Amino acid sequence: MSLSEQYEAKVRPYIDLIDSLRVFGVEKDIALPAIAVIGDQSSGKSSVLEALSGVALPRGSGIVTRCPLELKMKKSRQRDFWHGKIKYKDIVIDITDPADVERLIRNAQNEIAGALGMSDELINLEVTSTNAPDLTFIDLPGIVRVPVKGQPEDIGEQIKSLIKKFITKQDTIILVVVPCNVDITTTEALKMVHKIDLTGERTLGILTKPDLVDKGTEDEVVSVINNDIIFLAKGYMIVRCQEQQEILDRTPLYEAIEMEKIFFIEHPHFRMPYKEGKATIPKLVEKLTLELVLHIEKSLPQLKEQIQVMLAETQTELDRYNSGPPTDPEQWMDFLTDKITAFTQDAINLTIGEETKSVPHVNIFSTLRTQFNDWKTDLDISEMTFNKGIEKEVKEYEEKYRGRELPGFINYKTFEMFLKDQIKQLEKPAISRMKEISVLIRKEFIQLAQSNFMDFPNLLKMTKIKIENIKQLMESEAESMLKTQFKMELMIYTQDNVYTNTLNMHREEEDERQSHGVALPRCNRLYNHSDTEATLEELTHHLKSYYSIASNRLADQVPLVIKYMVLQESAVQLQREMLQLMKNYNINDLLEEDYEINIKRNNLKSRQKRLMEALDKLVLL
Ligand code: GDP
Ligand code: MG
Repeated sequence: MSLSEQYEAKVRPYIDLIDSLRVFGVEKDIALPAIAVIGDQSSGKSSVLEALSGVALPRGSGIVTRCPLELKMKKSRQRDFWHGKIKYKDIVIDITDPADVERLIRNAQNEIAGALGMSDELINLEVTSTNAPDLTFIDLPGIVRVPVKGQPEDIGEQIKSLIKKFITKQDTIILVVVPCNVDITTTEALKMVHKIDLTGERTLGILTKPDLVDKGTEDEVVSVINNDIIFLAKGYMIVRCQEQQEILDRTPLYEAIEMEKIFFIEHPHFRMPYKEGKATIPKLVEKLTLELVLHIEKSLPQLKEQIQVMLAETQTELDRYNSGPPTDPEQWMDFLTDKITAFTQDAINLTIGEETKSVPHVNIFSTLRTQFNDWKTDLDISEMTFNKGIEKEVKEYEEKYRGRELPGFINYKTFEMFLKDQIKQLEKPAISRMKEISVLIRKEFIQLAQSNFMDFPNLLKMTKIKIENIKQLMESEAESMLKTQFKMELMIYTQDNVYTNTLNMHREEEDERQSHGVALPRCNRLYNHSDTEATLEELTHHLKSYYSIASNRLADQVPLVIKYMVLQESAVQLQREMLQLMKNYNINDLLEEDYEINIKRNNLKSRQKRLMEALDKLVLL
């Protein structure tokens, strides 16, 4: 079985699972390891890589790989699909024929590093294919010990530091490729790896070119394979790749695999490692697959935890959306009735100062109280200015308008005129206060509608129209009530005994003030106690007394009108009209959901479903 087949069978289920979670941002912590291949030059790195990936890479003697190559393989869901893309510098070339890969890589290397040089600039090759495993391979330049002509003196160091950069990453599986025909113990690559991956946990040793092993050194090679000489936690494998001639002959893959197998079976020394499953490319593939599965399995508990967290988050988010209308149209009427009842109940609760369900903690009564207090203050101020003003005005009146009357005869009409003038001035502020409160109530109603009918734009729209209409209606009713009230106030009336009591009270207050030596009103100071003055004083007492009665009456009456019309009746009217709405409009239209909310809810639901499925699968894996 090739790597891609093995991969399909063993790793794919995990990959699919992780893939299915990718849209939720789960895959981050479960990155698959990249497989980096390092070794001395011409040790067979590219050959091994090619055997694993199935992608033909430049191979040969001398330094062939002169830039690091990242080969990113991606599984395609389409049948018989192959597409490549090579990226380097700012060049991107699409590849449609796999046979072009080798040439294009050579070109890229030449462009990056010149004909002989090296570079640590990365060539990126992406292969998307029906039978590609989702894996990333990294082919690195081989370590050279002696520079050839035209190469910089420190080329060895350059390459080593480049290799280090790639294999230091914790998520990289390192394949150290060592040919059997050299002194394995002195291999640079193994020494390097030892410094970076101390215990060899991430490193797998690959011995190549067993067919070229020096006679007499076979036992030493076998010792290496048995992990007796340079210990690597993952151990060693031995493979035979194609030699140059076989490549030129284009030996088919299955034939090459068969030949490799026969080679090991027939080899007097390497027969044992073969039997122990430590030889051939297919076994290497198996081993790598196992490594990948292990790697993923290690991160599964973490994945499970992540999924659970996301499930909980999804649930919380779902809870935030209402459940939507029932699927059965038979139940729509009940559903709508409940919705509308909930809303109108909230509106009524709002206007009587009870807790509303849909929007917690709205209390319009504190605002109302302030408004009504302000109204009372308005009245008090008006009374004060009135009191201050009348003494002067009465005096002026006396001077300008008194006719044939003897002093002291200021007629009742004058008394009325003063009061009417003053009381009339209160009408406007009363109405504007009522309107202010009406605006506030509309705002609160709309807020309630929004939170109750958030998901149903048509219903919300109709409700808003209703609220607006009711506002206009109740406002004009209240306005005419207030106007009537002020018209009535022009009649100047109160119960006799109420008036007498107030008059006496005012007089007592005044006497008290005088006996305490409080400064007397101006007219008293400027004039002697003439008859005229006595009359003026008397009139002033009357005016003040009546005005305070009227003012007290209005202090209650105006808020009562507002509370009755703008609050109570508005809510009642809203309830009536909302119920009529159900009769007059198509239930389908009213319950038509906000498109986006519908989609969002469905998304959340399907996400929830997928996460739960993933969790189930995870437990089974
Ligand atoms: P790299 O420089 O490490 O990438 O090595 P290559 O993969 O380019 O291989 C160098 C040469 O060794 C090529 O000509 C390969 O065909 C040849 N080669 C690779 N593996 C084997 C093997 O197992 N046996 C033989 N005889 N030749 C091999
Ligand atoms: Mg190479």
